[in-house]
Amino acid sequence: MRETHEVLNQAGALADYDLFASNAALRAALAFNAPGLDVAPLANLGTRLGSDEMQAHARLANIHLPALRTHDRVGRRIDEVEFHPSYHALMGAAVGSGLHGTAWMGESAHPHVLRAAGFMLFTELEPSILCPISMTYAVTPALRGNAEIFNDWAPKLASREYDPAPKPWHEKAGLTMGMGMTEKQGGSDVRANTTRAERDGADAWGERYRLTGHKWFFSAPMCDAFLVLAQSASGLSCFFLPRLLSDGTRNAIRIQRLKDKLGNKANASSEVEFDNATAWLVGDEGRGIPQILEMGTMTRLDCALGTSGLMRQALSLALHHTRQRKAFGKYLIDQPLMRNVLADLALESEAATAVSLRLARAFDRRADDAHEAAMARLLTPIAKFWICKRGSHFAQEAMECLGGNGYVEEGGEGVMARIYREMPLNSIWEGAGNIMALDVLRAIRKADAAAALEHELAPARGMHAALDRFVATLPARIEALAGEGEARRLAQDVALAVQAALLAQTAPSDVFSAFCDSRLGGDWGHAFGTLGSSAGLDTIIERAMPCSYPPPRGGQPVKSA
Ligand SMILES: Cc1cc2nc3c(=O)[nH]c(=O)nc-3n(C[C@H](O)[C@H](O)[C@H](O)COP(=O)(O)OP(=O)(O)OC[C@H]3O[C@@H](n4cnc5c(N)ncnc54)[C@H](O)[C@@H]3O)c2cc1C
Repeated sequence: MRETHEVLNQAGALADYDLFASNAALRAALAFNAPGLDVAPLANLGTRLGSDEMQAHARLANIHLPALRTHDRVGRRIDEVEFHPSYHALMGAAVGSGLHGTAWMGESAHPHVLRAAGFMLFTELEPSILCPISMTYAVTPALRGNAEIFNDWAPKLASREYDPAPKPWHEKAGLTMGMGMTEKQGGSDVRANTTRAERDGADAWGERYRLTGHKWFFSAPMCDAFLVLAQSASGLSCFFLPRLLSDGTRNAIRIQRLKDKLGNKANASSEVEFDNATAWLVGDEGRGIPQILEMGTMTRLDCALGTSGLMRQALSLALHHTRQRKAFGKYLIDQPLMRNVLADLALESEAATAVSLRLARAFDRRADDAHEAAMARLLTPIAKFWICKRGSHFAQEAMECLGGNGYVEEGGEGVMARIYREMPLNSIWEGAGNIMALDVLRAIRKADAAAALEHELAPARGMHAALDRFVATLPARIEALAGEGEARRLAQDVALAVQAALLAQTAPSDVFSAFCDSRLGGDWGHAFGTLGSSAGLDTIIERAMPCSYPPPRGGQPVKSA
C-alpha cells in the first residue's frame, strides 16, 4: 500500500471530556429545581461517562448484539439472553450510580431530580441499557400494590450492586424489573389483552395465579421479574411475574425470539409466551390498567429525560465537529448560516432540558404539594409528547452538521447515527404521540388543571410580549376545546409556553428572547436554522459548547474547568 495523501481537516473524537461541567443548561435547571443539591455525584458521573473507556463500552455493546439461547447444550429449555461484557459494564455503572430504584430510598432532598440529571447524562453515553434501568426505577409506585412482595423486593431494586446471575431473588445482591403490556392485537389499547389469568391459591405473596398467553413486546427479558397485564375473572388485572421462582426453578416464560430493531441495539427486546406461568396479583383485581399506569407514568418521565439527553449529545457532537472542520476557508461554526442552525438546536436542547427537570421536580414534591401533583399529571404527557416529537427532527439536523460523516456508523461520529436510530423510540413506546396528546386532553380538562397551568406560567408574566400574548389565549382555547382532533396542537402549545416560562427563570436573556421570538412570536421558519436576525447567536452557541478549545481554533479539545 502506498501513502497517497495526508488526512486533513477531519474533526477529532469528542472523548475524555466532562459531560456535567460542560452542560450549562443542565446545571441551570438543577439550580432552579433543586436548590442546594449536592451535585458531587453528578460531577463524578459526568467525568466518568465522558471517558474513552466508557465510550468504548457503549460502542462494543452496540456492535456485539444480545443473542437468544432458548435451550442448553443437551436440549433443556433455558430462555437466556447472552450479552457482551460491555453491556454488563454499562449496567453495572448505571446501577452503581443509583439510576434505577435508589431514588425511592429518599437519600437526598431532591432524589428524583438528582436521579433525572444522572439519567440524562448516562443517556449521552448509551441509551439502550437504560431500558431495564428505567423500568426498575418506574416499578416502585405500582409494586406497592402488593405490600408483601414490595417489602421483599424493594431494597434489592434500590441496591447499587448489579447482579445479572440467574438466581432466585433472595440469593441476589440486586434486582431489576420490566413490564409486559403490549400484545399482538393491541398496544395502545391494552384492554384488548387476551392473556388469561386463572386463580391458583394464595401464599405469603397473596393471591397466586397461572398466566397463559403472550406479549408481543417484552424488553429486557433478563430482568428478575415483570409487571404484566392479564385477564382474570374480574377483568384486566396487574400481576407480578418473576423469571425464576423462589425455589430456583425457571418460571414458564418462553422467549420466542428477539426483535430486530432499528436502534436500541444493546438492549434485548423480545416476544414471549406464558405457559401456565406463576404470578401474583398486584393491586385490586380488575384494576390492572390504573395499577400498571403508575409504572407507565414514571417511564414516560424517562422518555422525556432520555430524549433530552440524546439532544444534548447530538448538539455537543455538532458543535464539536463544526468547531474543527473547515469549508470555504472558515470553520463551519463561523459560517453565519451554520451558526443559525447550531443556535436553533441549542435553544431546543435547553428548552427540553428545562422542562424535563421541572417534571422531575414535580415527582419529588407531588406527595405533599397540590400544585406539584397537578404538574406531575399535566406535564408528564406534555413533556413526553413534545420533547420526543422534536427528537428525530433534531437528530436529523444535528447529523447534517457533520455532513457525510454523520451518516456513517463508525468511530466517534458514528455515535450520531446511533442517536438518530434511537430517537424515534422514546416517542413510540410507553404511549405513542397521539396517545400522549389525548392524555393531555384528559389532564387539562380536570378541574384544577387550567389554574395550575396559570400558576406555573405566572413567574414569566410581563417578560416577553410574545409569551404574554400566547399565554393569554390558552384559557379560552382549553375552555373551547372541540374534540380530539385538536389534541396535538394544544399539547404542543402548552409545552412551548411552559418551556418559555422556564427559560425566563433559568436561561440568559438571549436564550429566552430567541426562544420566544421564534417559537411563540412567529419569527421563525419550518426548519432549524431559521432564527431571526435579532437572535443573540454568539451567547447561545457559547453557552452550549461541550468543551473549551485552545486558541487558535481547531485541534483537540481540552477539558473544561
Ligand atoms: C423497542 C420497543 C420496545 C418495547 N418494549 C416494550 C415492553 O417492554 N413492554 C411493553 O408492554 N411494550 C413495549 N413496547 C411496545 C410499545 O409500548 C407499543 O408499541 C406502543 O405502546 C404502541 O402500541 P402498538 O405498537 O400496539 O401500536 P398501536 O396501538 O396500534 O398504535 C399505532 C398508532 O396509532 C395511534 N393511535 C392509537 N390509538 C389512537 C387513537 N385513539 N387516536 C389516534 N391515534 C391512535 C398511536 O399513537 C400510534 O401512533 C416496545 C416497543 C418498542 C418499539
